[in-house]
Amino acid sequence: MRTVGIYYAFWTHEWDVDFVPYIKKVGKLGFDQLELNGGTIVHMDPKKQRELKAMADGENLKLSYGIGLQKPYDVASLDENVRQKGLDFMKKMIDAIANMGGGMIGGTVHGYWPSTLPEGLDSKKPCWDQSIKSLKELSPYAGDRGVQLNIEVINRFEQFLVNDSHEALAYVKEVDHPACKVLLDTFHMNIEEDSFGDAIRRIGPYLASIHLGETNRKTPGKGRMPWKEIKKALDDIGYDGPMVMEPFVMKGGQVGRDIGVWREIEENPDLDALAAEAAQFVRKNLI
Ligand code: MN
Repeated sequence: MRTVGIYYAFWTHEWDVDFVPYIKKVGKLGFDQLELNGGTIVHMDPKKQRELKAMADGENLKLSYGIGLQKPYDVASLDENVRQKGLDFMKKMIDAIANMGGGMIGGTVHGYWPSTLPEGLDSKKPCWDQSIKSLKELSPYAGDRGVQLNIEVINRFEQFLVNDSHEALAYVKEVDHPACKVLLDTFHMNIEEDSFGDAIRRIGPYLASIHLGETNRKTPGKGRMPWKEIKKALDDIGYDGPMVMEPFVMKGGQVGRDIGVWREIEENPDLDALAAEAAQFVRKNLI
């Protein structure tokens, strides 16, 4: 079933927040899935993690998780000490998600964010190989615990390892484990892919989740994203996974800074109304 989800940070200026208000309200706004920050979950008490999951169950809400690994936890680092710290951090996060009943974590689980090719290198190959080595270790660890790792294909200005669907396909084929799949995001695809439809069809059975947003990260339906072409491609591959919108329309705070929002994308937005309208748009046009 194609679920309709939203990333909590649409409402927040900081990444580390109390998720309870969003668990309580997104169902009423038309969503059946909420994506949370894995970096927050990992630092929560295991009992609190389970309480959050029970609350989501009570709201009939599926949970998924996102992460942009920080540099000290770079699983693609050429420094084995850093890479090991990254593996430890990722395992701790996988344990946390397992404690919450399992599920998907996507984003830069394969390197740090935001990042650029290390100075002195002309090729990403050494970092790619470190990253693959890490995911070959993390994927079975995740799979055994009911957790799925989704490599998010991210544009060149934010990450350097996996920028388009060709690289993503090569990456997951090299890892070669069912717990390692791909997350496409229409915002990044708009920058890097020749064709939305061909990219989705290329990833095909490896596509585990898709992030939805307009070219400027407004809510779906507010811009010029070719939603018909995207819907057709999802139908072509028989996609039945999550569709999680990831809009960012507010400047300010660490979220605004990390996402690069330097102006009000929407003037005095009624965020709940925008989210509800976008949920309806996605149900009407993408399911
Ligand atoms: Mn995304």
